[in-house]
Amino acid sequence: MMTPDPARRRLLPNLLRGFVLTVCLLFAGAEYRHGLETRQEARAQIELDAANLARSVSQHAEDSILLADSTLSGIVEDLQVHGTGRANLRALTRYLRNEAERSTRLHGLFVYDAQGNWLASSLEAMPEHFNNSDRAYFRHHQQVDDQRPWVGPPVRSRSDHSWIITVTRRYEDANGRFAGVVLASIGAQYFADFYKGFDVGHAGAIGLLNDAGLVCARTPDNASSVGRNLSNTALFREMAARRSGAITYDSPVDQVRRISGFHHADQFPLLAVAALSEREALTAWRRSVRSHALLTLVTIGLLAGLGEWLRGQLLARQAVQEQFEALARTDGLTGLANRRALDEYLAEAWPRAIRESAPLGLLLLDIDHFKDFNDTYGHQAGDACLKRVAEAVRTCARRHGDLVARYGGEELALVLPGCDAAALQAVGQAVCRSVQALGIPHAESYTAPVVTISVGAASTWPMRMAPENGPADLVNIADMALYDAKAGGRNRVVLRNQ
Ligand code: GH3
Ligand code: MG
Ligand code: MG
Repeated sequence: MMTPDPARRRLLPNLLRGFVLTVCLLFAGAEYRHGLETRQEARAQIELDAANLARSVSQHAEDSILLADSTLSGIVEDLQVHGTGRANLRALTRYLRNEAERSTRLHGLFVYDAQGNWLASSLEAMPEHFNNSDRAYFRHHQQVDDQRPWVGPPVRSRSDHSWIITVTRRYEDANGRFAGVVLASIGAQYFADFYKGFDVGHAGAIGLLNDAGLVCARTPDNASSVGRNLSNTALFREMAARRSGAITYDSPVDQVRRISGFHHADQFPLLAVAALSEREALTAWRRSVRSHALLTLVTIGLLAGLGEWLRGQLLARQAVQEQFEALARTDGLTGLANRRALDEYLAEAWPRAIRESAPLGLLLLDIDHFKDFNDTYGHQAGDACLKRVAEAVRTCARRHGDLVARYGGEELALVLPGCDAAALQAVGQAVCRSVQALGIPHAESYTAPVVTISVGAASTWPMRMAPENGPADLVNIADMALYDAKAGGRNRVVLRNQ
């Protein structure tokens, strides 16, 4: 029996599944790519924000120092004009207190003589026996004869032990000799408080360093951070190499990955750093990617679902169609292939036999005295007999490629590709015997007391035939052989070769 090629049948549903899968993959790929691109953009924006923040922090530090220095310039001017006499120092002390009180920036103002002794300060009570000649700024101004302000490393104040940044200037006596140092201090806490005004998230930080790598101020953890030396860290080395920019690094302290913007002050040896946690900074991006991905996932799910549903519909329709096709080729009474299927099969078997250089055999079988059988036992018994005969013939067609069909009425056909004359004769005999062996009583038969068949056998080699010959000739010959079998006494096989 012919069956449609399953691979060909599955082609369209599989193509549909492949197409939907490809579209889904393309969707997912595009989403992944979009995620990467937007992450890149978000990171670039964060780097820019961090660098801008560092720039503004650096500007603030510079402005604070310039402001302190402008006060220092006034004091230097005063000292050089009016000297360090008792009366002037008293007036100067008042001025220093006023200035320090007025400004939230200034921690204190101090005047030291050439030996480092305290001459005047903004403090309420002037401490005695304090000497600041050991401080770095003092030694700097002793040695360097210039009129420029100097920003020293962070130190602990001798007056209240808080961390301070010092801005100092040298002043001279009438002969141009070093006469002492004036100092304005700015509390590290002042900077830290100012930095608290910026939102850098929970894991972010803003810091001010000097060029030697010492932390001058930091938010958060100002108290424990100021004075720490970062000069040996890779991050500091990288920041020292450029004037400004942004660096991503894993913090050696808390392992948090940070994006750090930095900017060196123009006039002073200071470096501002604004660090944001990469994870925190990318929160908005992550949220947008998540909702985007969810949408894509839902779309992919719907698409895949729709694709599978369509595929199911297609398969169901194909199955129904196949059922119809099978029915259209099947004989309703016997379940054998019908005449149409037989004709199609022979039309295919003929060229195949040519291609394979093989013989092609055909048996035409006709029940003997069947009209009498019907007349004797009735049509229903005739139908039942036909079915049993059909079943017996079917069991004789064992090889793959053999086809049993109902040729019409009580005539059956058995196509046997690859069967030569001798084999055909043998199969014909076997069919005859097996029908007779059914033992269906047939009282009116002249041939035997049971139902028998006559078989016309035709064997041919299609490759040896003329091009105009075809399956119809084979059927004709088998028909003639069947006629001979009937004429020869029935219940027998007659073979005719072409
Ligand atoms: P023979 O072939 O031996 O020469 O005699 P026969 O009586 O078989 O020959 P004939 O061709 O004259 O009769 C065939 C009969 O088969 C006629 C018809 O009533 C019967 N027949 C054909 N198809 C069917 C069928 O589907 N069911 C039944 N019950 N009978 C059928
Ligand atoms: Mg007949
Ligand atoms: Mg007959």
